[in-house]
Amino acid sequence: MKTTYRIDFAEELKKCVRCGECRASCPIFSESKREPDSPRGRLALVKLLQDGKIEASAELSEKLYGCLLCKTCAVNCPSGVITDEIVVGVRDYLEDVLDKNIVKRALLKGFLTRPALLQASFSLVKLYQKTGLNDVLTRSKLIDHLPETMSAGAKILPDVSKRPARGRIPEVVKPYGEKRFRVAYFLGCATNLIYPDVAVTGVDVLARHGCEVITPAIQCCGMPHLAYGDTDTMVQMAKNNMKVLLETQADAIVTDCSSCSATLAESYQKLFEPGTDEYNQAIELSSKVYDLSKFLMEKTGVQPGPNPVNVVVTYHDPCHLKRGQNVFKQPRELLKAIPGVEFREMKEADRCCGSAGSFSIMHHELSMKVLERKISNIITAKAEVVATSCPTCTMQLSYGMKCHGLSGQVVHPVQLLAKTYSKIKN
Ligand code: SF4
Ligand code: SF4
Repeated sequence: MKTTYRIDFAEELKKCVRCGECRASCPIFSESKREPDSPRGRLALVKLLQDGKIEASAELSEKLYGCLLCKTCAVNCPSGVITDEIVVGVRDYLEDVLDKNIVKRALLKGFLTRPALLQASFSLVKLYQKTGLNDVLTRSKLIDHLPETMSAGAKILPDVSKRPARGRIPEVVKPYGEKRFRVAYFLGCATNLIYPDVAVTGVDVLARHGCEVITPAIQCCGMPHLAYGDTDTMVQMAKNNMKVLLETQADAIVTDCSSCSATLAESYQKLFEPGTDEYNQAIELSSKVYDLSKFLMEKTGVQPGPNPVNVVVTYHDPCHLKRGQNVFKQPRELLKAIPGVEFREMKEADRCCGSAGSFSIMHHELSMKVLERKISNIITAKAEVVATSCPTCTMQLSYGMKCHGLSGQVVHPVQLLAKTYSKIKN
């Protein structure tokens, strides 16, 4: 199978000894209990495809899109099989050989490659929410009669009334004191449009820690394209983003979104042949990419302000941060360094919340079952605030908490840190 995403299917598939260890930890298999929904089952299907015993089909595609790409199977496999990456590779192959979905293509190639167009389309969502139509549909339960993906999206998407972060953050922000680092802030699409306060706060917190922060005009990181097999579009975006980011000559490229950091640091290099200029650029980029909490803990050291926040906090590990980048201590250390934080670890903090980008919209029912277990663990932890480092996890957890009538907030760790300073202008 020929794919742009570099993966040696034959070599990887050979490693699987069919022991089934991976099944116990897979959140999807836990719900469905059906072998084809397990990591081992997905690998068996890919092997049949690889051996020419089955053909590419919509049914096969459906099975492979039923995976959260949460990497739990990969870290628990004694033979080191990277099932999630194999799934990504096969989606890339299927995108080339199956009929194209026009709506999906328009979204990936049209909107997500054009930040201005994406922002404009969000104005329509804003208008829809502002008219109160969403509330009317929800209260009257008419929302449940919309096509499944539309109704799921309308339910989960929070209020997007705030101005996008781009436009609110100056192109260059000077450090509060002496300059220690020059940082390029990678402003991801979801943070920019859905949680702009996180980026506004993140940039201010970096400036307080001696960073000159530039927020370059980048495109989407490409994670949605990778997840939907559109690697050809992703390659173009990666080339553009690498050029823009490396030209800033920043000491570090920092982002508040774990999917963006995972894509920039890990996925770009899988799109290019070793030895090429692009591959070398991807490696250079990777060495500079930091999750925001990691950068604060490891590079600047955290300097909280004097005002205690007095709150009980728990932390949810985004899959792409914990299993994708091995970053899990730093956000916790950051939270514990905030005066007035009582940190309480929840059970299964690193279990996927079921969000997985658009999975909660495309596979709503299944996603909600996965979310249920997470919310029950949050309830047991009796925390007032849930901190996490991913906008789509924030969206999913907020929705789950709202459905359960919980009043607690879901925030990025830096938003709590920022409360210890005097008021930030948002
Ligand atoms: S993927 Fe790993 S854990 Fe799962 S069946 Fe294969 S060898 Fe066993
Ligand atoms: S990546 Fe996650 S959802 Fe997909 S097969 Fe592995 S454990 Fe299951």
